Amino acid sequence: MTFDVVIVGAGIVGLATAYHILREKPDTKLLIVDKAPGLGGGDSGKSAAAFRAFFYSRTNLALAHSSIDFYKHVQEEEKYDLGMLFVGYLFLLDPDRYRRVKRVLDEMGRRGLEYRLIEPERLEQILGVRTSLRGDEEAELMGLSDIEVGVFVPHAGIMRPERLLNYYAEKVKSMGGVIRFSARVERLLVKPVKPLGIPGEPFPWQDARVSGVKLASGEEIEAKKVIVAAGAWSYKLLDEIGIDCHSKPKKRQVFSLPAETSELMRLLNTKGFNQYGIMPFTVLPKGVYIRPEPFEKRFWTGMSDDLGRPFRLEEEPLPEERFYLYGVYPVLSKYFPQFTNIRPLSMWAGHYDISIDSQPVVFEEYDLIVSAGTSGSGIMKADAIGRITAALYFGRETAILYGGEEFRVSDLSLDRRRVERELLVI
Ligand code: FAD
Repeated sequence: MTFDVVIVGAGIVGLATAYHILREKPDTKLLIVDKAPGLGGGDSGKSAAAFRAFFYSRTNLALAHSSIDFYKHVQEEEKYDLGMLFVGYLFLLDPDRYRRVKRVLDEMGRRGLEYRLIEPERLEQILGVRTSLRGDEEAELMGLSDIEVGVFVPHAGIMRPERLLNYYAEKVKSMGGVIRFSARVERLLVKPVKPLGIPGEPFPWQDARVSGVKLASGEEIEAKKVIVAAGAWSYKLLDEIGIDCHSKPKKRQVFSLPAETSELMRLLNTKGFNQYGIMPFTVLPKGVYIRPEPFEKRFWTGMSDDLGRPFRLEEEPLPEERFYLYGVYPVLSKYFPQFTNIRPLSMWAGHYDISIDSQPVVFEEYDLIVSAGTSGSGIMKADAIGRITAALYFGRETAILYGGEEFRVSDLSLDRRRVERELLVI
């Protein structure tokens, strides 16, 4: 049987793409294959799943804003609980960082993006955060500065990635799409467009195309189009056939901390930011974040280490407790002494699939479509990426994002790439 399309990867990108293809053309013979035994085996299941519709770059904003609005619609109108909580984002800025982003924030305010500034005294009062580290020699040695201001963004929050995966997977299956787990693609099949039946085809002089996938079991599956949405693993399949997706994996880790003291429970249940009385997703200087996990009475924390952390794919990436102890914890406990002596109850690691400019990469060559490079924001942008990849599959130049905004598909390609740089770098 030849499928209309085989998608490699049942992560959030593969599933959202499948959903939008089937939504538009329900009789498409569509198969998704994934090497994992079930949903969430890749990075989507390991995500902190925080979201914000607050970016300077119009590319970032279009992708995130429309996806978040779609998820909100799913939760509120379709009544499918994605665990979406608009707890907000709170950026705690030191004087240097604030000076650097102030003009960008002003401009974003003029464009109608909502945020409010919070004075350090007020931050101390409501969160118990130390905004002045003056006289703390250790903090000085670590290069930690005072917090000059908090920037609170209301159109932002957290969700449950496994529910989002489930939503799309259920929709795909209800429309006749097939998802096969424990089906590892060993390689992409490259065959001549017009086979001559000579051993050794395709020869360099023959027009060739990607005609399907070969599974590790030896089974070959033919398709009119193949979509590689294998996240951090995409480059491995593509490098083998000489296609460069210009994105590379880098390990990222999450540490889950119990709210085991009354001070931490108070922090978790901070009032004044949102309707739920939960602390916002909070970003500290040096990039350490605290994500509330109210369902489990925990906090998730982590940070992105760049210099010194290799671009490398680990088949089953292991979290490093040392990274918490010597990387995250010293910063976390300096600003939030409530975390002193708190050790993770659990931890996990995945990859960011990092592209050249931290924007997704979506392009087509030889009947092969690549949708990768989500660069650490794939959950909050997945619906838009799915729509754009589906539009490319249908041969359209423009995708219609949720809410009606038009997005030029080639803007995420490699040869005609046109993405706006993100200037709100915090
Ligand atoms: P994946 O979910 O990894 O899906 C790819 C799938 O392909 C996998 O299921 C894998 O098993 C399968 N696969 C790979 N190779 C093969 C093969 N050869 N054969 C068959 N199947 C194969 N994003 C946000 O928006 N907000 C956040 O707060 C956030 N936090 C994050 C925190 C961490 C620790 C990590 C790791 C990521 C975070 N992200 C966040 C990023 C987000 O999770 C990713 O951008 C997104 O999940 C990528 O989706 P994907 O479908 O491209 O990849």
